[in-house]
Amino acid sequence: MTTTRFAPSPTGYIHVGNLRTALMNYLIARREGGTFILRIDDTDPERSKEEYVDAIKQDLEWLGLHWDRVERQSARLDRYAAAADKLREMGRFYEAFETPTELDLKRKKQLNMGRPPVYDRAALALSDEDKARLRAERGQGVWRFKLDHERIEWTDGILGDISIDAASVSDPVLIRGDGQVLYTIASVVDDTEMGVTHVVRGSDHVTNTATQIQIIKALGGAQPSFAHHSLLTGPQGESLSKRLGTLSLRDLRAQGVEPMALLSLMARLGSSDPVELRTEMAELIDGFDIERFGSAPTKFDVQDLFPLTGRYLQSLPLSAVADRVAAAGVPDELADRFWTVMRDNITTLNDLEGWWALCRDGADPVIEDEDKDFVAQAMALLPYAPFGDDTWANWTTAVKEATGRKGKALFMPLRKAVTGQARGPDMASLMPVLQVIKAKT
Ligand code: GLU
Repeated sequence: MTTTRFAPSPTGYIHVGNLRTALMNYLIARREGGTFILRIDDTDPERSKEEYVDAIKQDLEWLGLHWDRVERQSARLDRYAAAADKLREMGRFYEAFETPTELDLKRKKQLNMGRPPVYDRAALALSDEDKARLRAERGQGVWRFKLDHERIEWTDGILGDISIDAASVSDPVLIRGDGQVLYTIASVVDDTEMGVTHVVRGSDHVTNTATQIQIIKALGGAQPSFAHHSLLTGPQGESLSKRLGTLSLRDLRAQGVEPMALLSLMARLGSSDPVELRTEMAELIDGFDIERFGSAPTKFDVQDLFPLTGRYLQSLPLSAVADRVAAAGVPDELADRFWTVMRDNITTLNDLEGWWALCRDGADPVIEDEDKDFVAQAMALLPYAPFGDDTWANWTTAVKEATGRKGKALFMPLRKAVTGQARGPDMASLMPVLQVIKAKT
């Protein structure tokens, strides 16, 4: 059975980059009627925070990316220890004692000599006495996995055929000196034991995948299919890494971005399929095909989310947003009219409050000098609120007859006097929700 997982580390809020990973894994699982696991990668007790675990869940729920099961790496430490023992017995695990400064120096020397900075396996030559002495001097060493120096190959769901020379990669550290198990082995143990069939993650994990394939083989597990999506860049191709903090899902939610707008964009961006607004998750699931994604960096422009959000809102009946309309202060009896006229004129639901304030209190009129007399004359012809469906038509007809103005010269000064702006909702539909018109009082 198809099983995928989204495996965030709870060290911060999730952002658009993580969302891409989560969504792809979710869509694959749902398309195949499989299982989608939320795996919390919390083996780092210092950086992992419970508040981020909660936040990740809230963000996924907000988006409607429901998981079938939650797994936590911190609850599975004994499994990782067992796997480590197995590797040790097989002679694939060795203890090394270099300090970070020593490793750095080695790397610099290698680079100076034009060689790739790959760990030189000096620790393999240590005798038992050497190790005992180093342990006494420096404490426990780190545990490295001894790679087989052969080519590691797989067919990537996005990148195609990959072949990596294991000799060009350092033997990965799987357990730190303080005993902390690292992601590289924890993830392999989980993927294997949880029957994960498809792993989709960012292309920053390609080298991890190479080493993990060897660890999977060593432990005798089944190898999932791997796909590595390209990383997101800004609209100009600039790196997003520093800005991802401001592109967290909670920020986007606070800015009024609607889940379906975000999902519609992220499920297609970087693929050969066009980005189109989808209003139902099922449509995203049906049309999803990982093979249609390309390996080139994917440009992401947060501004693209707002027109999609606007279009999504236009498709909604009042019932879908009634709580937000009420929260903006709109009385129940006006809610339907208010929503029907506003949904075509807002970018996000955050705009509702401003529009309701304008309807409730009246806008400061904007009147050009040359229109002063005209507007004064028109206001004398306008009845007081409440207004009805035909107020605008009746009023403008009367003003036209009295002043001889027509077309834009007639309508624009009235719009600006009533709403304080040159653009906005259809005036005939707006009038019935206006509680007061300042230019008239
Ligand atoms: N916790 C890892 C990360 O957030 C998971 C990577 C993976 O999907 O294997 O990068």
